Amino acid sequence: MGIFGKMFEKKNCAICGDEIGLLGNRKLEDGNLCKKCAAKLSPFFSDRRRSTVEQIREQLDYREANKQAVADFKVTRTLGNDTKVLLDEDSHKFCVTSAGGHWRDANPDILDFSQVTGCNVDVREYRTEIYREGPDGTQVSYDPPRYNVSNEIYVTINVNAPYFDEIEFRVNDGLIEGQGTAEFRASKEQADEIREALTAVREETRSQSEAANAPKTAVTCPHCGATTIPTANGCCEYCGGAIG
Ligand SMILES: [Zn+2]
Repeated sequence: MGIFGKMFEKKNCAICGDEIGLLGNRKLEDGNLCKKCAAKLSPFFSDRRRSTVEQIREQLDYREANKQAVADFKVTRTLGNDTKVLLDEDSHKFCVTSAGGHWRDANPDILDFSQVTGCNVDVREYRTEIYREGPDGTQVSYDPPRYNVSNEIYVTINVNAPYFDEIEFRVNDGLIEGQGTAEFRASKEQADEIREALTAVREETRSQSEAANAPKTAVTCPHCGATTIPTANGCCEYCGGAIG
């Protein structure tokens, strides 16, 4: 088959089997994926080209199961603006979505507070030099040089999850001119609030699981005198009497 024949060779999606249109192919390491199946992958996943069909199949199974976690999610706190961090403080879960009011339809990945490994706020400054026109019509720098400065504020949440290890999003809507503006302060406050909230819930979950996993020490039961490791509700293993 000539080079053109190969180019227009029909491809089928390795997951659903559908024929893939001319511009619809999403390449995998060892196969092809259609647009429709690719849209079901996690929005935070970026390693598709280096993923095998089997890895993609596993992820799509997990994404399907995530729909139930989305249905069970109860929003107790909302942080952020365009992109929102939703917390379910009762179940110790959170998700990040920019899908607005119909966020459940977007099936955002539901994560446990304990999966957070870090959270950073990053102010990115962009400078473009402003020139004046020189005597011969050329661009000449001011002395000292002048710049147009704009800013963006990003939050990066590092997570311990199977298909992605960070969630990054911009907090402000458009570019912010100066760091002294009210818009900058409001966006920075929002970003810091997200970082503080996620850092706090992570610490809380960690110390709870540490307490649960703390080594148990043997004590002498004041009731029966046996050497016992108290049960989960603080009773002697032998006589059932309350200890401490
Ligand atoms: Zn498909």
